[in-house]
Amino acid sequence: MPLFGPPNIAQLEAKRDTQGLIKALGFKDAAIRMAAADALAPLKDPMAVEPLVGLLGDEHPGVRRAAVAALSARGGFRVVEPLVSALEDRDPEVRATARTAVYRRLMTDPDQDARRAATAALGRIRAGDAVETLIKATIDADEGVRVAAIKSLEAIGDVQAVVPLIIVLAHEQIRQRSTGRSSLAVERAASRALDTLCVAGAIGPLQSALGHDEADVRDIAARRLSRVGSAEVAGSLAAALHDKDPGVRRSAARGLAEIGWQPPANLTGAQYWVALREWRRCAESGSAAIPLLLAAYDGVDAPERADIVAALVRLHWKPEAANATAAHYWAAQGHWDKCIEIGEPAVEALESILRAAPRWRDRVAAAATLATLNRPVSAPFARLDLVQRALAILDGEGTGDEKRGLLEALLTDEHQLHADANESVEWCACGYPASKVGNDELRVPLADLLGFEQSSSSVTTYYCPSCDTRRETVAT
Ligand SMILES: [Zn+2]
Repeated sequence: MPLFGPPNIAQLEAKRDTQGLIKALGFKDAAIRMAAADALAPLKDPMAVEPLVGLLGDEHPGVRRAAVAALSARGGFRVVEPLVSALEDRDPEVRATARTAVYRRLMTDPDQDARRAATAALGRIRAGDAVETLIKATIDADEGVRVAAIKSLEAIGDVQAVVPLIIVLAHEQIRQRSTGRSSLAVERAASRALDTLCVAGAIGPLQSALGHDEADVRDIAARRLSRVGSAEVAGSLAAALHDKDPGVRRSAARGLAEIGWQPPANLTGAQYWVALREWRRCAESGSAAIPLLLAAYDGVDAPERADIVAALVRLHWKPEAANATAAHYWAAQGHWDKCIEIGEPAVEALESILRAAPRWRDRVAAAATLATLNRPVSAPFARLDLVQRALAILDGEGTGDEKRGLLEALLTDEHQLHADANESVEWCACGYPASKVGNDELRVPLADLLGFEQSSSSVTTYYCPSCDTRRETVAT
């Protein structure tokens, strides 16, 4: 071998002479530099990394391409930044080789630090053609890679990432539900990226996500669509009111409410009110609401059942069976005899009236009906018998004075009033006895004769059961 002749690359390669090959990277002939870089590739020697990085600034594009290929074969964290910088090489073939190196090789590198760094770098240089690669990285085994991929997709700003990001978020939610564990970092990043990406241009992808197989995905899409908030989204959200998943229907309805949508008087309108659990307003949707109201009935609590029945009454529905629904129907209209006929299944409807009917006369009647069904109650009346007898006197024949006399006699007989203590009755405007005043001039409500509501452990409010007047609030 001549002393200053060109190095014999084939020989150096055969001897796996890394030092010799590295030295050859500096030879003046570009073909030699290229051949040396090619020969170094399979050796993956860490010593070769720095000299190969140095070749990325070589004047000859073929040498730069060979250096990119050799660094790519080596992989690992140290080659990430040089290879990412080669994505912006002035030569198209070098750029193409670098793209393959970064998008295929580094993104699947066994070293998670390399994958993380490559993923983050693609976002930093806003590599628009890396979107598909980054979408794949959102399901990487390493959490750091997933977060970096999401952030890079946000930085690149392509709405193509919207649906994959929704899926990422949905899967974290599903994982949280089924295993109690999810990645908060991934959820936060995905949520923030969707905040950035879900603008008017994202309506198309969001609409397509409403047709996804998974309810969680459809749900997030519905929520995000309403935030985009243009009139364009109303049609898609209205269609989502018929989704098979109740959560999606609710999100769609809330979204429609937010954008000020007016529900039509048909099945879609009924679905809207049902999804918002605005049972009474279902009546505005017409008879299409009836099957929805009946289907919802078993799954809701007593006050909501009363609202459902109120809507059914407005829609002129009539019960066919003697069941709890029928009891709500009859009780809502004061047909207490029908509730007694129904018997035990009517108890819940009557208890709901007892707790929440706006008219205290209905509460008295419900309490009396429950007593008839062998279900006496102690609230909201301390002495239902006294209330009933006082109301009977008040509703009966006679002048105001005569009634007052009868009521005073009743109160004295029942030890509510003590004549010898010089107590006198204060009357409600409707003529019902409300409180008594003794020698000390303190007014004391006739608690046994009034309806009461305990608004907290220390405050009780009394109501005249005849005319609903709120009497007094006293600390007990
Ligand atoms: Zn009154």
